[in-house]
Amino acid sequence: PLNALVVGNWKMNGSLATNATLLEGLRAEAASFANITVSVCPPFPYLAHSASLLAGSAISCTAQNLCHEAAGAYTGEVAASMLAELGCRYVLAGHSERRAMFGDSSERVAAKTRMAFNAGLIPIVCVGETLAQREAGQTEATLSAQLLPSLASLSPAELDKLVLAYEPVWAIGTGHVASAEQISSVLHYLRALVASSTGQADIAQRMPVLYGGSVNPASAQWLAKMPEVSGVLVGGASLNARDFSEICRSFA
Ligand code: 13P
Repeated sequence: PLNALVVGNWKMNGSLATNATLLEGLRAEAASFANITVSVCPPFPYLAHSASLLAGSAISCTAQNLCHEAAGAYTGEVAASMLAELGCRYVLAGHSERRAMFGDSSERVAAKTRMAFNAGLIPIVCVGETLAQREAGQTEATLSAQLLPSLASLSPAELDKLVLAYEPVWAIGTGHVASAEQISSVLHYLRALVASSTGQADIAQRMPVLYGGSVNPASAQWLAKMPEVSGVLVGGASLNARDFSEICRSFA
């Protein structure tokens, strides 16, 4: 796809030393995926260090999370403005691990989406159903409940910058990639949902929608051929410079 976006979500992994090796490896390969947008998500404490190692390259940093409030007495939290100041371009909002383990309700994710835009960051709003929800025929209802609150407060200009990521929970870290049919069906549904709930059909059509869940160099090859897939959100395979570069090259 044109202008593909490939994002590597490191989750809670890495160290100063391994991050430096990984980013050095990515920089060495960057010329081979210069026509797409590539970003990596280091844990908060490493954002400044990673950004400095990426200075002068086209690879940007994405934050894995942000606070739903702008500033104040929120011990342990990180504000959107801080992430913007450190040079982050994107921020994940509502990753399934945040929703499942850290109480990120869809309303909370909507507040985070608002904070991201207020600070000039581009939110990547993540949605995805569990296996139980899929088997109960609740996939679309789940995705709509997760996404609609985030869409509600956006201006058309903001909506036109929004990025979505479809990450079925049952595909994350399991080695079990969703099928092309499943991904195609959900991505069409998400764009139709954006169009119907906002009235912005053109924006919905061009909205970048990523797939995430056990993406590796082999699956990236066929995912990159799907016209509906704007790019990928990569977990485990983004910790290896060679694998992540190969995934990026599939979309280049
Ligand atoms: P894996 O690629 O390790 O399945 O993780 C996907 C993910 O959650 C990316 O945000």
